Amino acid sequence: MCVNPLKKICHWGPLTALGIIKVITLMTIHCSRQWWPPQESFFGAVNFILFFCLSGSTLFHFISAIYEGPGYLPLKWMPEKATDTQYLQYCSVCEGYKAPRSHHCRKCGRCVMKMDHHCPWINNCVGHYNHCHFTAFLASAVGGCCVSTFTLVSWVMTVLSLRPLSFPPPSIFILILVIFSIGLSIGVIFAVGTLLYFQLLSIIKNMTEIEAWISEKAHYRRFGTRDKFIYPYSKGWRFNLQQVLTWDCTPVGDGIHWPVVEGCDQYTLTREQLAQKKDKRKRAKTYRVIQEASGSRLQIRHGWGVFCHPPCTDESRIKLEVGDMVVVTRWRKYWLFGEKKQNDENGKQVRIRGWFPRPCVIEVIENETYSSPLTKTD
Ligand SMILES: [Zn+2]
Ligand SMILES: [Zn+2]
Repeated sequence: MCVNPLKKICHWGPLTALGIIKVITLMTIHCSRQWWPPQESFFGAVNFILFFCLSGSTLFHFISAIYEGPGYLPLKWMPEKATDTQYLQYCSVCEGYKAPRSHHCRKCGRCVMKMDHHCPWINNCVGHYNHCHFTAFLASAVGGCCVSTFTLVSWVMTVLSLRPLSFPPPSIFILILVIFSIGLSIGVIFAVGTLLYFQLLSIIKNMTEIEAWISEKAHYRRFGTRDKFIYPYSKGWRFNLQQVLTWDCTPVGDGIHWPVVEGCDQYTLTREQLAQKKDKRKRAKTYRVIQEASGSRLQIRHGWGVFCHPPCTDESRIKLEVGDMVVVTRWRKYWLFGEKKQNDENGKQVRIRGWFPRPCVIEVIENETYSSPLTKTD
């Protein structure tokens, strides 16, 4: 896919992240040169160089995570053996099959290899090829912010100690900027540190956020039976780490074929995904729209319940018109998640999925004799 290099960066996520990196870096360099001049003491120099390396590494891995990208599955991708397609899901947007561990990202518009999540800060997905860069970016950012918090706080304490300063007293503007940077820096340590912790955990288990979700459902589906679901990709923490974290940040493997544990094969997880999808289809119910919905996130016209309990996800909301039919697959008290079929401008039928307020629809009871045994089994 041809990506205009500026287009990837010119988005609120990367621009905000770059802004934060810039402010913290400039203020830390300024303060460390005044408070602990690197040319005057050995430890001052160590502190300065350490910060410089961490800050540079943050920027390098950040840019690499954006431009390396997660690795997209080729459009119209097919497994080598045509009969294997029976174990795979089909992506109607990319017009190809989804390789094991691949998922379609609606924001990237492509099927992503070993998709973990779409990260707005890098305006790209985290997946097979940029997993290491992304993790190294998080680690450098946390490390760099620890050094800068130490440096900035020491500088502020020196300035406020009212003892004679070895450097010109700062203006109030600089003082405010430094205090603001300390806030940013501590914020990064906690927020990015938490993300880093979960990212390392997922690498150690060799299980992405999406796969954790699939495994949880797989165990839940087998609850109370003798059948046990074995997650196929975790071959011990050391092996798992070596798959992702390498010195030059190139992952092991091609993003399509994966090493699996004994008793599993390439399609263990995809077969489970297909089975879960089939279950979901069995539970789905059709609803008719009786009140239109605007498709916006804030809904004021459908009562307090709907207004106060919006679904906490960044999944889309859909617009509904009276008479539309929606197939619902997820239920909340005030909101439903479903799919509606619609013709696009070229007359091609497309499916749009999203949340909408529950009061807008009523359930359609098709053919009583046929549907009632199904509803009883739910
Ligand atoms: Zn796709
Ligand atoms: Zn994406």
